Amino acid sequence: MKPTFIHNLVNSPFEDPTLFVRIMHEKRALLFDIGNINRLQPRDLQKITDVFITHTHIDHFIGFDTLVRAILRRDTPLWVYGPPNITECVEGKLRGYTWNLIKEYPIRIEVCSVSDNKKNISSFLAENKFQRIDRGSAPFDGTILKDLLFTIKAIQLDHQIPCLAFSIDEEFHININKASLEAKGLPVGPWLSDLKKVIRANGPANTHFVISGKLYSLEELRDVAQVTKGQKISYVTDIAMNDSNIRKIIAFVRNSDTLYCEAYFLEEDRERALERFHLTAKVTGMIAREARVKRLVAMHFSPKYRHNRETPEDEAMKEFSSSPS
Ligand SMILES: [Zn+2]
Ligand SMILES: [Zn+2]
Repeated sequence: MKPTFIHNLVNSPFEDPTLFVRIMHEKRALLFDIGNINRLQPRDLQKITDVFITHTHIDHFIGFDTLVRAILRRDTPLWVYGPPNITECVEGKLRGYTWNLIKEYPIRIEVCSVSDNKKNISSFLAENKFQRIDRGSAPFDGTILKDLLFTIKAIQLDHQIPCLAFSIDEEFHININKASLEAKGLPVGPWLSDLKKVIRANGPANTHFVISGKLYSLEELRDVAQVTKGQKISYVTDIAMNDSNIRKIIAFVRNSDTLYCEAYFLEEDRERALERFHLTAKVTGMIAREARVKRLVAMHFSPKYRHNRETPEDEAMKEFSSSPS
């Protein structure tokens, strides 16, 4: 099965956490947190349409300037989603530069701050020297972005400050059945992505497609597209190790195909983890196991373990693959 999303951490787990998610067949990518992003190529940066920020500690937000610089001449707006203070943080970053020469640039930065039950939208336009324009608020029901291909959900957790966790849910996945294509004598072509779009949008059965000059109805083509369960990817980081957070995370990431989760401290430094509002790797492994995720990617390790024989990754994986006590 060809996945819809290709997802990778930009840096090593001892460096800033940032997850790059490329959406196949679309020149588009999503970014979860924006730490140091110097390893992303300019062509990757151009594809980023949406950035999801857990919280604005410097290791999760320092790359914002790099991205803005790369996309200044772009038509497609950049959406930034984050915790309640995200609008002030974006505003502060943009105020840190002088913008008298960008009046002709089309770029717009749209910021959506998310709290427990409300989201607020603000816009920053290059033509307006990135002055903040507040657009008002709307109720927040857990979904922050609904696209034809996927839904992004968020929950607010506690890291002494509000900190968001995110999931990407692909409602269903469509594969092209090559045997059925051949049996019908149909060529591969752009019509296949049109067919996928119509199926995703639940289009009417009498929708027609022109293929090599002939007309076909959606009904005739339905078995060319195999519909299967979609992927779920979750991203959780910088979370205080308390019961309420842990319960919420397990429910939120349940049955993920991949969970990216912090494992900042080793269990032997549990006290330090509590003081710094982080998880230990053992708890990360337990969360992934309890939530029945298929694959755990442990990330965001304290640099102090860089030369350890047992890393937070080893500890998290050991707990993840153990049977529940
Ligand atoms: Zn952090
Ligand atoms: Zn933090």
